[in-house]
Amino acid sequence: MAVPQRRISKTRKRMRRTHFKLSVEGLVTCPNCGEMIKSHHVCPKCGYYAGKAQYLDGKFVKEEAKKAPAKKAPAKKASKKAEEVKEAK
Ligand SMILES: [Zn+2]
Repeated sequence: MAVPQRRISKTRKRMRRTHFKLSVEGLVTCPNCGEMIKSHHVCPKCGYYAGKAQYLDGKFVKEEAKKAPAKKAPAKKASKKAEEVKEAK
């Protein structure tokens, strides 16, 4: 059986063990309420995600808020294209 050739000193043991530590990873501060939350998750405290209310008082926020940005998005693209055409002329 393989046996260590010499005893590991207190210092070497302690230097090795400096890396044995727990870390909390994947936590970020909620931009709405400042609570520590899991990243890419709806905030359990205030129900906000991506700057919008998603889940409040045990109910999902109605789809009005979700549909509105989808309608706006194509309009913005069209306006940007129009602006580019104007700038080109
Ligand atoms: Zn929050």
